[in-house]
Amino acid sequence: MRDWLSGVGGRFDQRSAAVLASTSGAVVLPIFPVAYPDMVRPGLMPWLILIWAYSALSMIATAVAGRLSDRLFVLLGAGGMVGVAGSAYVLADPGTSHAVLVLLAAIPALAAMHSRPAIVVGFVVIALSLALLVAAAVAPSWPEFAVAAGSTAMAVTIPTTLVAALRRSLMALVRRLETISDTDPLTGVLNRRGVEAQVHALMDGAVLGERGLGAAVVDIDHFKAVNDSLGHSAGDRVLVDVAEAVRASAPHGAIVARVGGEEFFLLAAVDDETEILAIAERTRIRVAGETSVTVSVGAVYAGVRQVSTSPLLPSMDPGRELIDMLSRSADAHLYASKAEGRDRVGIGSVDAVEWSPVQISRSRSRLMLSMRS
Ligand code: GH3
Ligand code: MG
Ligand code: MG
Repeated sequence: MRDWLSGVGGRFDQRSAAVLASTSGAVVLPIFPVAYPDMVRPGLMPWLILIWAYSALSMIATAVAGRLSDRLFVLLGAGGMVGVAGSAYVLADPGTSHAVLVLLAAIPALAAMHSRPAIVVGFVVIALSLALLVAAAVAPSWPEFAVAAGSTAMAVTIPTTLVAALRRSLMALVRRLETISDTDPLTGVLNRRGVEAQVHALMDGAVLGERGLGAAVVDIDHFKAVNDSLGHSAGDRVLVDVAEAVRASAPHGAIVARVGGEEFFLLAAVDDETEILAIAERTRIRVAGETSVTVSVGAVYAGVRQVSTSPLLPSMDPGRELIDMLSRSADAHLYASKAEGRDRVGIGSVDAVEWSPVQISRSRSRLMLSMRS
């Protein structure tokens, strides 16, 4: 049972699962008026059968599609609302008719779970219009029309507004969690995960702007001695100062991260080796001038060649591969500058990297996209 449920959960998104549940209900409910024809206005039974068939088709279409596209959802949803309004109209008793009319609330609320605001508003307008039309047609008197139309309008707008508000706050929470999980809590710069989240956008920008890539690893000199002599808290304050100096030296749009205990990583779109060397020198000089420590820097330049498809296997994250390769190369130059006496920059270049813009979105981006769609 559990396996079956997880299979269903994987195949359907929430909106499609809810459509499947409501169309299944719409297939069961008309059994009663079909079995008791007196429930239906004279001569209108064929319409009820037609609506019934449409509900069954919608249920089958949803079951087959698994995840409904926005277009299919709009099609099935609009048809479903006309079906609900039609069913309410064909019923002979105004009370039963009103009970069915309230089902119009389901589609706008389902839309609010997963659809664009324009679709949600569109469904609310359709639901309210149909509610007014059917209530006007079936209510025996003005006061009964006012109660039927008013209560259906509330049943439509209240759950839809609530679902939309919940979805908004859930998305704000997801964004906040992403920021927290991408940020180094001590210094406020990115962490390794944050670099992986942003490298795709930076690479896309570099490729489209026909620029290359500059990477630098910035390591504090003799940091252990700071901790040993002044204590761990003083060491933490130095880390914050160095992070600020690295960030202030980085060009606009660069990625700055703390990737090791006392090691920072900088990645920027640059035109050539001279530009990343200038950034690395600027960083080194600023740290030496504005903090109580010095840093050694290893930097590399890589040209970027645009390709139409990624040379990597689809299962690999090209951003992560790239970061690994650049860090390894920059590290080699960092060790050289440490060996040469520290407080200096080691620079080199590597072979041009291939990049296919907007090639593989991270699973997390896919999640956000599906929540926004
Ligand atoms: P080098 O010039 O060769 O880089 O020497 P180093 O002393 O900077 O390098 P080493 O790798 O020997 O020591 C790094 C130190 O960084 C050791 C560790 O205690 C300290 N460290 C790592 N993370 C933190 C942190 O979050 N806060 C503080 N205060 N210290 C940290
Ligand atoms: Mg160090
Ligand atoms: Mg280190």
